[in-house]
Amino acid sequence: MTEFFLRFPTEDACIKHLFETRFGDHSPCPHCDSIGRWFRLKRRMAYRCSSCREDVSVVKGTIFYQTYLPLRMWFYAMLIFANSTHGVRTHFLARHLGVRFNTAYRIGKLIRVHIALHRRHEQIGGAGKLIHIDEANFRCFSTERPERYNRQIVLGLSCEGQVLCGTVPDRTIPSLVGNIERLVRKGSILVTDGHRSYLSLSRRGWNHITACPIQHAASSKNVKNNAIEAYWAKVRRNLRAHRRIRDENFWLYLSEAEFKYNCRDAKVSVFDQLIGGFPDFSFDELERVKRAFCWGNQPFD
Ligand SMILES: [Zn+2]
Repeated sequence: MTEFFLRFPTEDACIKHLFETRFGDHSPCPHCDSIGRWFRLKRRMAYRCSSCREDVSVVKGTIFYQTYLPLRMWFYAMLIFANSTHGVRTHFLARHLGVRFNTAYRIGKLIRVHIALHRRHEQIGGAGKLIHIDEANFRCFSTERPERYNRQIVLGLSCEGQVLCGTVPDRTIPSLVGNIERLVRKGSILVTDGHRSYLSLSRRGWNHITACPIQHAASSKNVKNNAIEAYWAKVRRNLRAHRRIRDENFWLYLSEAEFKYNCRDAKVSVFDQLIGGFPDFSFDELERVKRAFCWGNQPFD
């Protein structure tokens, strides 16, 4: 916290950081392509190119666009998100930032979208690498019928401490094997439990090992699936604070858990990774971002 207030003592420091991260001193001007001559416009979140005199908005195209909240509050909320282990409840965020519940809800949702926009692995594994694969159930609320619980099935793939996960509609072969074939590089060794959908993997040319159940002792011959089990424990801990997650929003919480898990051992802190890049975003793209975490059935031959 001390470090945060030293680094971002004023709103201007946040604007400067956002501009430098997005455009930098040496990036070409989007209007005239000349490089690196900007000056800040007073009392506006914009910089002006000294060659063509055109303005560039600092926040346009990010999650901060069209909010009236100070950037410093957003950054501080990101610090809370980065350092929480049990997830950030909207009520907590509202109390802590001194804003209304609806505002806190919007901040939380947009920060999770921001996390989901960050680069993730497109495929994992490689020749001779072990991939631990498992599915888990999570409980959500149905959006149409709030009194009913819904089940979300999440498929997780873990390789060398990095995880890729997404929701699938069921446990059929097209859902499980179809997504595995899309996301795992050829030559990997797949470790799964004994679910019958996975039995077709070896027939389809994969090197497939069935992991022994958790209560059996692992010997040199059989492998355990602990890597992915540990990840489920982390996800459940991250969701513990939230009592009512709607199923349409579940992917956002999943992206938060995956992001935090994947950068747990990185040299750069989670907060620095969160503010180290501001991927372009508009609300029209929300469905595209969502599809990266809601995998669905894959076309399957
Ligand atoms: Zn210019």
